[in-house]
Amino acid sequence: MSDFSIDKNPIVIGAGPAGLSIGACLKRAGIQSIILEQSDKVGSAWHRHYDRLHLHTDKKNSELPYAPFPREYPRYISRTQLIEYLETYAGKLQLDIRFYQQVLSACYENEQWKIQTQDKLYRSPILVIAAGYTREPNIPNWPGQNSFTGRVIHSSQYKNGEPFKGERILVVGFGNSGGEIAIDLWEHGAHPSLSVRNAVNVIPRELFGIPILSIGIVQGRMPPKLADAINAPILRAVIGDLTKYGFRKLPYGPATQIRQDKHIPLIDIGTMKLIQESYVTIHPGVKEFTADGVIFMDGKQAQFDAVILATGYRPQVNAFLHGASNTHDEAGTPSSSGRETSMPGLYFCGYYVSPTGMLREIGIEAMQISAAIAKNKT
Ligand SMILES: Cc1cc2nc3c(=O)[nH]c(=O)nc-3n(C[C@H](O)[C@H](O)[C@H](O)COP(=O)(O)OP(=O)(O)OC[C@H]3O[C@@H](n4cnc5c(N)ncnc54)[C@H](O)[C@@H]3O)c2cc1C
Repeated sequence: MSDFSIDKNPIVIGAGPAGLSIGACLKRAGIQSIILEQSDKVGSAWHRHYDRLHLHTDKKNSELPYAPFPREYPRYISRTQLIEYLETYAGKLQLDIRFYQQVLSACYENEQWKIQTQDKLYRSPILVIAAGYTREPNIPNWPGQNSFTGRVIHSSQYKNGEPFKGERILVVGFGNSGGEIAIDLWEHGAHPSLSVRNAVNVIPRELFGIPILSIGIVQGRMPPKLADAINAPILRAVIGDLTKYGFRKLPYGPATQIRQDKHIPLIDIGTMKLIQESYVTIHPGVKEFTADGVIFMDGKQAQFDAVILATGYRPQVNAFLHGASNTHDEAGTPSSSGRETSMPGLYFCGYYVSPTGMLREIGIEAMQISAAIAKNKT
């Protein structure tokens, strides 16, 4: 096992949008970083996501520092276009990325971060963790699940609706992945249902041709209650009465929900129309599984051939970050992002679920972090 003495080069964990942005911003500041990536490619998560995926955020508000998207890309770019963009970004900037370097442990000792991968030990006074908010799938477990004879997969394993043609599919979760997977299943001839546990808000991707994100950025300066009061009649006209379709409506609007609950409402790209036209059925939360389906919280039972868990992800930085428990909660979710933590030289990037889009936030955080590192160096 070789020991790399890196001198003062910052180490960055992860070559997704956040790690690449950090590398780019540091390079602009004249600092060469070393990016450790467990896979063999940049943006590896985007290679695994489902085929239909397009960004829900518009391209102007999704670009990384110093690199606009190509002019010919559409307003909402596809998964493959994002991959192409990330590869060009890393290549043009000649970032020093070390592939097949999975960080197994990072701890602070003798005023240095000791970062151990499967075959190398790196040392640096500065460590930026950009390993992804969606590092590990969140997979709940219900009573009776083992007796279910159909397939159960997490949304991270879903590629497209082809294998589910003609089948009754339950999608658990009403986030943006769940909403789009329901559309994809229907487009492939499956019969999707959605299990929605909590009360919800739904917002359109655009209002009067303006991306909802741009409206959110402008309204971000207002008190959320005021923004919700202004938006309520427009949303009612555009989205309709959610309770008519089996949803419970949150007693407060999307702006308050994002600020208070740190939860992004469904950005509708066509799911609501399928629900309104009864192509997608809404059910409450799952109570338990049976051999051929599930029982819902309202006691009703339904049969399904497969269940897709669009139940989100967890960052779980505690899987490799040791001795820094004051920087994250018990589940391994960092308590700050975009600035130096309470541990010397330790930064997280990409861990704030932002109302104005995570890619946009990643760019802002990367600039803040690189400025702080450059300042501390001088
Ligand atoms: C389905 C989906 C759709 C999304 N759509 C949008 C959208 O439309 N707009 C938007 O703004 N945001 C969106 N996001 C949120 C966010 O922008 C993306 O998740 C984005 O990829 C985050 O970038 P990241 O670099 O923080 O994390 P990731 O892209 O997850 O990259 C992290 C990298 O770290 C590597 N890594 C992890 N652990 C280790 C380790 N121990 N050692 C070494 N390497 C490691 C991983 O292999 C990976 O390459 C979406 C997220 C998902 C899941």
